[in-house]
Amino acid sequence: MAGVGGPGPSRPLPAVRPDLGALEGYHSPQVDVEVRLNTNESPLPPPPAWVEEFRDGLAAIPFHRYPDRSATGLRQALAERHGVAPDQVFCANGSNEVLQCLLLAYGGPGRTAALFEPTYTLHRHIARLTATAVAAGARRGDFRLDLDEVGRVLGAADPVLTFLCSPNNPTGRADAPEEIARVAALAPGLVVVDEAYGQFAPHSALDVVRGGGPDAERTVVVRTFSKTWSMAGVRLGYLVADPDVVRACELVALPYHLDAAKQLAGVLALRHVAEMEARVALVTEERGRVAAALGGLPVETWPSDANFLLFRPTDRPAREVWSELLAASVLVRDCSGWPGLTGCLRVTVGLPDENDRFLAALTASLTGA
Ligand SMILES: *Cc1c(COP(=O)(O)O)cnc(C)c1O
Repeated sequence: MAGVGGPGPSRPLPAVRPDLGALEGYHSPQVDVEVRLNTNESPLPPPPAWVEEFRDGLAAIPFHRYPDRSATGLRQALAERHGVAPDQVFCANGSNEVLQCLLLAYGGPGRTAALFEPTYTLHRHIARLTATAVAAGARRGDFRLDLDEVGRVLGAADPVLTFLCSPNNPTGRADAPEEIARVAALAPGLVVVDEAYGQFAPHSALDVVRGGGPDAERTVVVRTFSKTWSMAGVRLGYLVADPDVVRACELVALPYHLDAAKQLAGVLALRHVAEMEARVALVTEERGRVAAALGGLPVETWPSDANFLLFRPTDRPAREVWSELLAASVLVRDCSGWPGLTGCLRVTVGLPDENDRFLAALTASLTGA
């Protein structure tokens, strides 16, 4: 655009922050396929009754007004669902924004977040975006937490935030309650347990927050509507924690960040718990079937408490297998470049016919059958 004195010689645009220069954005390829098993969404859309209630509710929203800034109804409904107080609940646009708020509030220059890889890559990514240093430890060969390593990393780095992911994406297993308690005992700051797949797991760190024990105040549980709730398109996540943590997140969230339609979507979803639980049961049963089938193929696999399975072809390069699945119109996640996951692919558990398509394509790729 012309400034005073007209368009001058072209001047370079500013460079982005130097600490972001080497960073790559977060990518998960969205190619057009018939069987999409790469991002751990629910294979089913929301219940028809929810769609109807949402449509009716939208018609009644006063869209010329700002939404309820403190999301009173939604926080009340979530608090009831989890047996906590509304001031222990903070909501945001997907659990990724919850994580970003935690890092904005507690991280930043001169502060450190700890994590244990392989784990959800967004923890590291969002830490970098908020100029928070990352202290990364390694999980064991079987992907369980190595508590000696946890002690070393936390002792050396003094992190303000320690991230766990349970069940862990992309390796699948939930950390045991004793392991999480041990991490909380060692952590100098908050322990953030990302439970994006919590509904598939046999236990939850919500028990720690609710329990009021010595670790209750420092434990933060993050959850999302994106997976079990069939609402990835809505972008809604939340945390359950001590009221001080909620207030800290409110400090850094933009005013009115949670639009009225989203608040309505969440409140209505919580009236359909039975449907959500039926979906979890279906996916859990299918997970067992897919895991058993993988057991008969030349792949290494790991037990999963989530809606996906990690596997490593033993005789073929992962990238070739990934491409052959894609050629069969089956999209899985190529994790082979992630820290500690050489040769690994991750498949989301889908509907029975989608899982059949995946297993047939994988069998053909690995055995030529
Ligand atoms: C999918 C996923 C999320 C979800 O993020 P949203 O922003 O809520 O969609 C969060 N954490 C983990 C570990 C995930 O796998």
